[in-house]
Amino acid sequence: KANRKFHPDDSVIDVDGVKIGGGSFAVIAGPCSIESEEQITYCAQRVKAAGASLLRGGAFKPRTSPYSFQGMRSEGLDLLKLARRATGAPIVTEIMNTEHLPLFENVDLIQVGARNMQNFELLKAVGRQNKPVLLKRGLANTLEEFVMSAEYIMAEGNENVILCERGIRTFETSMRNTLDLAGVVMLHKMTHLPVIVDPSHACGHAWMVPELAKAAVAAGADGLMIEVHNNPAKAKCDGAQSLTPDQFDELMQFIGKEVEFFGKKL
Ligand code: PEP
Ligand code: MN
Repeated sequence: KANRKFHPDDSVIDVDGVKIGGGSFAVIAGPCSIESEEQITYCAQRVKAAGASLLRGGAFKPRTSPYSFQGMRSEGLDLLKLARRATGAPIVTEIMNTEHLPLFENVDLIQVGARNMQNFELLKAVGRQNKPVLLKRGLANTLEEFVMSAEYIMAEGNENVILCERGIRTFETSMRNTLDLAGVVMLHKMTHLPVIVDPSHACGHAWMVPELAKAAVAAGADGLMIEVHNNPAKAKCDGAQSLTPDQFDELMQFIGKEVEFFGKKL
């Protein structure tokens, strides 16, 4: 179902009126984690004003250490919905457990994170509901495995899948991961699904994010996911890779022109 061979045309995924793929470019932005009503609402208003069309914020966080902030969980989801009401922007947030699906009923785009890319029961479960799914590439998964995970979701009946390249593990240690832009080009050959790029988790350094975002657009990405925090130095998660709202605004002015240059619409 995901194979380009049998579906030559690009798929366009509609997330509550926001189109992604086939010439429609969309930017997802917001903090790594929802921390308070003021924080998520302020970030939402700033990223929306800068040109992002979808709002992100983690409520259930897959942290490496069990002692790190685990997210505000269902309370966080409620705050994200308040931010949606304040801005009108559809919301994206990560699910980690099939049992949490009822909590995600009112979420516009359900994210399956890198660590769960091969959680096949979770993939089947999101495939049995009808909201679009943002599937992130696993930390050490091949493109073939990535597309097969999308296939798991689609095989259950939900063909609204957006792929996200977010960097992979290599021998390089100066960055959090290695952004695989060649993989974006290859994925477009392998599949008709939209492919977006998350430069924030790919590199782990806020100062690098703008250049990688620009390169992703040039590589043909259908969208971007960028972490933006009101006060990166005080962020509970991923502050080092988060842009300030001002930095995001400046980046978006360039991205807008670049997307147009490549014949797509933001
Ligand atoms: C995220 O987007 O919040 C996240 C945890 O990313 P990843 O699954 O790519 O590590
Ligand atoms: Mn993060």
